[in-house]
Amino acid sequence: MKESSGDKERWSKFCPKCGKKTDELFDSLCRACFTKGIRLIDAETLAIPIRVNVCEICGGYFKGKGAGKERTSIEEVVTDAIRKDIRERYGHECNVRVEVLGGNELKDTENRMIVPLRVKAEIKGVEIEERGETAVSLKRGTCERCSRITGGYYAGIVQIRADDRIPADEELTMAEEIAYSRLGDADFISKETKLKEGLDIYVSSMECGRRISRQIVKKLGGGFSESRKLYGKKDGRNVYRVSFSVRLPAFTEGEKVEIGDKVFSVVKVRKEKGIACVDVATGERTFLKKKETNKARRHSRIL
Ligand SMILES: [Zn+2]
Ligand SMILES: [Zn+2]
Repeated sequence: MKESSGDKERWSKFCPKCGKKTDELFDSLCRACFTKGIRLIDAETLAIPIRVNVCEICGGYFKGKGAGKERTSIEEVVTDAIRKDIRERYGHECNVRVEVLGGNELKDTENRMIVPLRVKAEIKGVEIEERGETAVSLKRGTCERCSRITGGYYAGIVQIRADDRIPADEELTMAEEIAYSRLGDADFISKETKLKEGLDIYVSSMECGRRISRQIVKKLGGGFSESRKLYGKKDGRNVYRVSFSVRLPAFTEGEKVEIGDKVFSVVKVRKEKGIACVDVATGERTFLKKKETNKARRHSRIL
């Protein structure tokens, strides 16, 4: 406390460690002594390395028990562990910031990683900064996603067909691109089968199958329906596999279709038989049988 009478008696408190007179005490010590006693990166606590699961196939990091479902990163596990440790030792209200000094400084040895870092924390009102390193112990295995991919797992099939015609290769290529672009982090495509009448895409989850089907229909037209089949039981619950039947639209009167380098204007669609049309270049009327129209692709929609 400051007193008004003279310089000598200005400070009523002093640090019991170094004897310095000061008005500002932190845990009864002066700022310097208090700061000196603090270890943000505590060697003893960190002698037990931070543990993280790493997938040998995709290289992803996972936390939690077992196969490790929750994806994480070295930065995240290190930050969480350091913050928790500091808060346990210096109080849960401590403001802690951890910066992993990454790049090529991350040393990945067999099962141990040395991670250099900078830690800033505010402890009892004092900002403290420390540089050091910590060890992360790597438990190698295969993540759930990778083991499912390896096992050919799928939960749904997106079946792409077209009404009264065969989807053009361009449509199937687009559908495939849409499928890959709509995968979430945990999703995957385990198999694709090209059939005479279309394409089957085997997907890892029902949600992802639905998302893909919806987007294909949005881009290419038509509609889709779902049907599910009981596949088995897991942990007492029924497990279903879902088929998404995507139907691209049939050719319609007035639209233009391409076969090879020829463009035809559709005059009349005769279901299951073929289409009556006009060759756009010559004006000649012609009838294209089902077999020929199977090679046709939409002119306007695709290009
Ligand atoms: Zn002191
Ligand atoms: Zn993996």
